[in-house]
Amino acid sequence: MTKTTYDCSKCPGYCCAYPVITVTKRDIERIARHLALSPEQAEAKFCRKDHGYKRIIRRKTDEHFGRICRFFDSGNRNCSIYKARPAACRNYPGEGRCGYYDFLTFERSGQKDEDYIATTWHNED
Ligand code: SF4
Ligand code: SF4
Repeated sequence: MTKTTYDCSKCPGYCCAYPVITVTKRDIERIARHLALSPEQAEAKFCRKDHGYKRIIRRKTDEHFGRICRFFDSGNRNCSIYKARPAACRNYPGEGRCGYYDFLTFERSGQKDEDYIATTWHNED
């Protein structure tokens, strides 16, 4: 099993600010159950059709990244529906490393500031 080298609890949730987070039919059914809504209610409230996808998560304003997932808990900087989150979120970043987290750790160490938040990051690979 690949060793995980990132810690989402120490991250401001950069990946939750991605503009396109897809939601499958199964995802919306699970989220609806979690929130005691019908799938239709959940879809209308939390999803929209855009970027060529049938369902992506609606966003809201965010103090650090400008816009972020509608389900993001801005106070605790984590997912408010963690147990019911979409498959796309469960599968991310996938290979045991998170490029943003590597960058964040590097910057926090260099700036000697454990709370530093990088609002932009570009994968140079
Ligand atoms: S950007 Fe990386 S470390 Fe931060 S929440 Fe997402 S997966 Fe976790
Ligand atoms: S559903 Fe949760 S994990 Fe997925 S993008 Fe939104 S806040 Fe992040």
